[in-house]
Amino acid sequence: MEEIRPGVWVVYAENKGRFPFAHSLYLEGRQRALIDTGAGKGLQQLVGKVDRVFLSHFHRDHVAGNDLFSGASFSIHPLDEPGVTSVEGFYRLTGLIRFDQSYWATLNQERFTATTVTETHREGDRIDLGGLTLRVVHTPGHTPGHCAFLVEEYNLLFTADIDLSSFGPWYGNDSSDLEQFQRSVDQVRSLKPGLLVSSHSPPVTADIDRRLEQYGAAMEQRHELVYRLLSREAMTLEQLIDLKPIYGRHPEPAPVYRFFEGNMLKKHLALLLAAGLVRRTGKGAYAARPQDHYSGNS
Ligand SMILES: [Zn+2]
Ligand SMILES: [Zn+2]
Repeated sequence: MEEIRPGVWVVYAENKGRFPFAHSLYLEGRQRALIDTGAGKGLQQLVGKVDRVFLSHFHRDHVAGNDLFSGASFSIHPLDEPGVTSVEGFYRLTGLIRFDQSYWATLNQERFTATTVTETHREGDRIDLGGLTLRVVHTPGHTPGHCAFLVEEYNLLFTADIDLSSFGPWYGNDSSDLEQFQRSVDQVRSLKPGLLVSSHSPPVTADIDRRLEQYGAAMEQRHELVYRLLSREAMTLEQLIDLKPIYGRHPEPAPVYRFFEGNMLKKHLALLLAAGLVRRTGKGAYAARPQDHYSGNS
């Protein structure tokens, strides 16, 4: 745990913050608050010391330690609430409901424990912790109810899974939205935070706007990549997934990574179709329409 500003600590996660772990933010005003509970071991020292837990979104790597803080209140954006209150809601928001449930049994991944949500937060809410103030910034795209939190006293923004990772933005759930994600990155940039803490990368103090711009640009780069691949030859979604244009590799459990790759590709394809840059062929494949728009890109 590092006190990054007076009364504000980053709880660094196990595994250097890589999935299935995520950094948390702990704030000590007159009330003691924790944002996300997926940091692993580092949270043990806070057991019994947290009054309020705020969840950035419903993903398991951000809520895995909820049980540790059973005496605290729990808040999440209403759109993500079903993802923590029931396993059905989790499967529906992720889209993993489309997998045969027996598959999950073989993966031993049914570790879902429901959270009792006691309050919700929305865009613009100001949460007075007594000496520290959190402002909720609704940043959908990764998930529908994904939120960032601004610590107003320090212009410190916790951006959760707008995470400045080298992988780039992730929108692999059924409920993820590529265009919303782009707008959310722009919104975060417009806030001009002086210190940015996110869930899977180290805190950023310098070049924040440039880092966010680069991070957001990955979405447009993938968009052009999908277009270029389809310019070479028409392909079905499955053939596109085989090329792993977004992930590069599909580690085990490979079917899950194929699923996420496919979901992200589908969002690009939907936008390319809507823009008239891609068309469906007779055989369920996608083909690029020749355009000047992307021809200048290498
Ligand atoms: Zn997430
Ligand atoms: Zn995460």
